[in-house]
Amino acid sequence: MKQLLILSGKGGTGKTTIASAFIKLSNARAYADCDVDAPNMHLLMNSTAITKSSDYYGLPKAEINTDMCINCDKCRKSCNFNAIKVDSEYKVDYYSCEGCGVCEAICPVGAAVLKPAVAGELMLYIDDAVFSTARLKMGSGTSGKLVSEVKKQMKSSVRNADLAIIDGSPGIGCPVIASMSGVDMVLIVTEPSISGISDMERIVETAKKFQTKTAVCVNKFDVNIENTRRIELFCKDNNLPFIGKIPFDPYAVKAINNGKSIVDIECESGKATENIFKETIKLLFNKG
Ligand code: SF4
Ligand code: SF4
Repeated sequence: MKQLLILSGKGGTGKTTIASAFIKLSNARAYADCDVDAPNMHLLMNSTAITKSSDYYGLPKAEINTDMCINCDKCRKSCNFNAIKVDSEYKVDYYSCEGCGVCEAICPVGAAVLKPAVAGELMLYIDDAVFSTARLKMGSGTSGKLVSEVKKQMKSSVRNADLAIIDGSPGIGCPVIASMSGVDMVLIVTEPSISGISDMERIVETAKKFQTKTAVCVNKFDVNIENTRRIELFCKDNNLPFIGKIPFDPYAVKAINNGKSIVDIECESGKATENIFKETIKLLFNKG
């Protein structure tokens, strides 16, 4: 099964819109939403019935047994994250604790203990297709690990699919690196803005390290033609396939607000996306 990852760097570039259009166009039997901080593909794909839901455990969190605590203050002094507070008794601030285990190791009476903590929820939808997604609990870290779990869940649940489409995390940090690991191709959806270009360049650098096949397309290209040219030039200079431009299209917003994909209606952005999809499939499967 070939895995196509769609990334954008910054949020709001239309990455999920393109990913959901690709899922429709390919009739994909496997897909995943790796934007675990703010998953929204289930809305675009009208997914309703969750087949399986499971807790995701991230870093453990410390807890203090106040009945055992002798108020020696060693844990508070040793916590590099200032996660231990003293009010009338010693307590761990759940959101500040990084689960490093120093307090547990240093406590002379075994009152400070690390406990498994639920950091999110993994969800799996199975009907004609397998759709894997997750939601990280607010304030939880380790989103990279959860992204890896989303992909693992998709791969272990799917049978006889030749293509999986993965909507990657926005940004350029750990979750993006986790989403990139093991995929066959990255399609970068960028926009003609300074921040869009900068994020694209950083994703390209990361993809190079993974030696992952990479292509670029521009969404809302006509908002800034000059920056679109800069993107094309960057691709040429770096031997990256530049596979299309999508115009700004008010019909795209209408389609999404009505729970449709841009390829479900007649619109300019949908037509451009269809061409980009064809080029992507050619590259992914080394056709033509
Ligand atoms: S586990 Fe580490 S971060 Fe959490 S309270 Fe203990 S010392 Fe602080
Ligand atoms: S190190 Fe243990 S005994 Fe000392 S204050 Fe912390 S929890 Fe209490």
